[in-house]
Amino acid sequence: MTQINTMTRNDCEKLDQQDTLAPLREDFDLPAGVIYLDGNSLGARPKAALQRAQEVITQEWGTDLIKSWNTAGWFDLPSTLGNQLAPLIGADTNEVVVTDTTSVNLFKAIAAALQMQSVDSKRKTIITERSNFPTDIYMAEGITRWLDRGYQIVLIDTPEELPQVINDGTALVMLTHVNYRTGYLHDMTTVTALAHQHGALMLWDLAHSAGALPMDLNAANADFAVGCTYKYLNGGPGSPAFIWVPVRHQQAFHHPLSGWWGHASPFAMSPGFTPTPGIRRALCGTQPIASLAMVACGLDTFGKTDMQAIRKKSLALTDLFIQLVESRCATHPLELVTPRQHQQRGSQASFKHPHAYAVIQALIQRGIIGDYREPAIMRFGFTPLYTRYVDVWDAAEGLRDILDSKDYDTNAQRNAVT
Ligand SMILES: *Cc1c(COP(=O)(O)O)cnc(C)c1O
Repeated sequence: MTQINTMTRNDCEKLDQQDTLAPLREDFDLPAGVIYLDGNSLGARPKAALQRAQEVITQEWGTDLIKSWNTAGWFDLPSTLGNQLAPLIGADTNEVVVTDTTSVNLFKAIAAALQMQSVDSKRKTIITERSNFPTDIYMAEGITRWLDRGYQIVLIDTPEELPQVINDGTALVMLTHVNYRTGYLHDMTTVTALAHQHGALMLWDLAHSAGALPMDLNAANADFAVGCTYKYLNGGPGSPAFIWVPVRHQQAFHHPLSGWWGHASPFAMSPGFTPTPGIRRALCGTQPIASLAMVACGLDTFGKTDMQAIRKKSLALTDLFIQLVESRCATHPLELVTPRQHQQRGSQASFKHPHAYAVIQALIQRGIIGDYREPAIMRFGFTPLYTRYVDVWDAAEGLRDILDSKDYDTNAQRNAVT
């Protein structure tokens, strides 16, 4: 690559022309004049989603009505989608279902893990990070408070603390693979092995890594995983999440949300709960079909490439953005909070700035969409499927211009969603 100081927008256009992923941008309907760097929060809309939604609403629901549970594959949809998603995360067939929210799936996985560990009454701690996405911690708090059996949540401040805090009293280590705020990426294999050395179970939240980078849950020998489909997987606003339970744990996987969709024969309508033998025991009740159906449109694009290619471009995009911002905005009080080392970085770049919220609002007004996260962090997500090198260039230039001209309003009112 050309030296960053002599690089031009033209060079970025050349990179786009050589980019083998560039044609996949055509799968998405992006509004004109918008540079979308928030696909880590809500993925862009696959063009196919509109037709699929129309089909679900008019044909499957409107015309075929209740027959569609059988004829349109509605009943099987959580597993059909789970199987389509599985290769992206190193899961096998019949190990993933798409269902409920990430928060609810965390509840199921934490509850099942604690029950599996309850044979050893000394195992009383759940280890996670203080900087984890709050709902992950809240869900663990909810379960432990409700169980009232002396479980404790241990919050660590840096990943380096893991070897000191994981011990024979640990029931569960629960980490988010890529930190939502900083983009820090954990080494899944090493951390899982560390948990197992002490007999702890390992739960990964893949909200910010599924669809952003390659991973292999089975090779890492992880125990459980959950994640979002509306972020890098482009499933649509609030599209159902996923949960992974490897075959080796499925028999022992019992969660308290034992609804009829997890029953061995839901339409036997028997009064007692018998869980179905496979991954569908992770289901609870009737699924939101209209929303669930959109998930396939997001996943289809991944079938046209592979996660190695996506990762390569993701690192190139984040490297370029970091270099451009740091060289162009060197006089401004910006601090990169995302790791520079590739093996520790997800698919985002986050910078601290004293007026982060105001600057993000000014960028959004110019059509450059990133987001704001407490405290004082501007977050930019890079989705290799539809982000171009010229977008990176233009976003960095927009940021430089706003900072140089101080064209932002430090009194900007906070919206409900930042
Ligand atoms: C986005 C995200 C969630 C969202 O959970 P919902 O139940 O879908 O609201 C949970 N955990 C992490 C780590 C996330 O990044």
